[in-house]
Formats: sequence, C-alpha cells, structure tokens
Amino acid sequence: MQDNPKNSKTKLTELGEFKLIDHLTTNFNITQASTKLSIGDDAAVVRHQDNTLISTDLLVEGVHFDLAYMPLKHLGYKAVIVNLSDIYAMNAEATQITVSIACSNRFTVEALEEIYAGIQKACEIYNVDLVGGDTTSSVKGLQISVTAIGVAEEENIVKRSGAKPNELLVVSGDLGAAYMGLQVLKRENEVFKVNPNNQPDLSPYAYIIERQLKPEARKDIPELLEKLEVKPTSMIDISDGLSSEILHLCNSSKVGVKLFEEKIPLDPMVISSCEEFELDSTTIALSGGEDYELLFTIKQDDFPKIKANPNLSVIGHMTSEDVGKHIITRAEQQIPLVARGWSSIPEQE
Ligand code: ADP
Ligand code: MG
Repeated sequence: MQDNPKNSKTKLTELGEFKLIDHLTTNFNITQASTKLSIGDDAAVVRHQDNTLISTDLLVEGVHFDLAYMPLKHLGYKAVIVNLSDIYAMNAEATQITVSIACSNRFTVEALEEIYAGIQKACEIYNVDLVGGDTTSSVKGLQISVTAIGVAEEENIVKRSGAKPNELLVVSGDLGAAYMGLQVLKRENEVFKVNPNNQPDLSPYAYIIERQLKPEARKDIPELLEKLEVKPTSMIDISDGLSSEILHLCNSSKVGVKLFEEKIPLDPMVISSCEEFELDSTTIALSGGEDYELLFTIKQDDFPKIKANPNLSVIGHMTSEDVGKHIITRAEQQIPLVARGWSSIPEQE
C-alpha cells in the first residue's frame, strides 16, 4: 500500500512557534539599506531619509480567498502584492513588509512553507525585505495580514485629493481580467466537485486566470512616469473596480468626471470570456475589482508625454463637481457613475 501523503505532513505543534518562524523565514535575504534590524528582536528597525509610508491589508479565508482554487503559494504572493500596490499608488517606493498569520490546526508546516515561498518570491521580485510579523492560531481558517512600508520624498507623494477640473483621467494596463479569471476558476471548481476525474483545459484562459491567481503590482508605473517627467495630480490603485476608485478620486478631490466607455482598456480574452458567461464587459471593468492597476489624473499639458505609451490609456477627464460623475456610453448616452463592489455583480447560474 502506498503512503498517504497526508501522513507525511508535519503538524504545526511539532515545531512550536519559535522554530516555525525561524524555519519559515530562514531563506529571506535583506537587500534594503534602510533595514537596520530585521526578524528576531521585539521590533524591526528601519531608517528612511524621507517620508515613511505605511499600508496594511487583512485577507480572511472565505471572504477574500477560497483555498479550493487559490494555491497557497499564490496566496502568499498575492497577499504581498495587494499591499505593495497601495504603496505604489502613493507614487512611493516599497521597501519592507511585515506578515502576520493566524491559522487553525488544519494547516501543516508544509502548507505554511508554500505560503512563505510565495511571500519570498514577491519580496525578491519587488525588492522588499520581510522584517517581522506575528504568528498565532485561529479557531477556524486562515487569516493573513501584510503591512507594507515605503519611502518617498515629500514633493513626490501623490494623494487621492489632488485632481482638478479638465485634467485627464488615465489608467494603466487593462481591466476586468481578474474578475473573469475568478469566474472561470469557480466554474471549474463546481465541475470538479461533480466529477473529480475531469481535467479541464484552462490554457485558453491563461491570462485571466493569472490575473486572478498571480496579480502584479504596478511598480513600473511610478518609475515610468518619473522618466516621462509626468507627476500625477492624484492617484489610487484599482482594488475594488474602476467605478468605485474613480468615485474615490472625485470625492477626495471634490471634482466631477466624464468617463468614456469606448476608452476603457479590455484584453480580448476579457471580451470573449464575458461573451461566454453572458456578462457585459463594461460592467465587469467598472465593478470587477482585483485588477491592481493604477488610476491617476494628469495635467492636459502632459498628454503628449504619455499618449504613445501602450501601458497607459486616457479614459476620461475631470470636471467641476457640480457637473456630476458620469459615464458616456458607446451610444453617447450619459449615465451616472455608481460604485458597485464586485460582490454585487450577479453570480452566474
Ligand atoms: P513577540 O513575542 O515579541 O511578539 P514573536 O515571538 O511573535 O515576538 O516574534 C519573534 C520575531 O519573529 C519578531 O521579530 C517577529 O517580528 C518575527 N515574526 C513573528 N512571526 C512572524 C511571521 N509570521 N513572519 C515573519 N516574522 C515573524
Ligand atoms: Mg508576536
């Protein structure tokens, strides 16, 4: 009889908390000069010459992720990415993270190793140091909280509140793919439950699935804008869907907006999968969420500097607040822009 691989897994209690932290973090390197003291003391020590930026996110199993279709390594990677995205959205450089984990005894040492492999990959790719965290048990499920630390010169920091009427609204990359990737994964998970021998061919959906399972943060966009000598007047990252992020910029900046439906950047695979799922691709881009693209405003004079760049799309312009917040459809209808979280999109039958 073959060994049941489950039997070879190591219970968390076999290692104990201190050995576990050591075990999980031993391969992490420190690369940032600003990291003065890392894991192993009561607090990490970081010295930045300029402003320090801090951002935290908490991911809860069953609310923010489902381990039925989220591999643990990807989960670790994504937990870091969503936080780095917030630092880049301030036009800052991310330098350190801390990671806090609560998990039930259903998780093994090997499971946590997978999560930390993903965390380490993100640290290497984005050049951030893991400098601390906390580890504890939970009654049920897995929770991961990441805090990202960054640095920026005062005059470079871009807030949500700086947009002015007539400025252009710009977005990086394309939208809606992460949500459509999730729809494919959910569908395949249902099929798998009915017939576990069914091996689905997911290769036609590679891009949208990758956008859901392995999103990237747009570290390159603040760097690109600096090179182009464009300083955004306001900026936010797209975690909850384009419409709600646009409304955040409008409300913080006290301006209105005209968004043009035909300008919203969509990957061909988003368009084809929306057709397959009978969803409207504009609705998905507006409400889908988890795209982690950057949304920002620029002065009209800066338009020539960005217009040829394939990473950036001008999707509208800001107006005075009293004009309101609207989307202009392809049929040239003007419709009020409303915030709808991704959870409010009707589920597919
Ligand atoms: P304390 O009792 O002071 O909270 P801990 O025993 O929780 O200390 O942590 C010891 C060291 O290990 C600290 O430097 C802490 O930042 C780090 N650490 C604890 N848990 C994690 C984790 N999940 N990931 C990374 N570092 C961690
Ligand atoms: Mg602790």
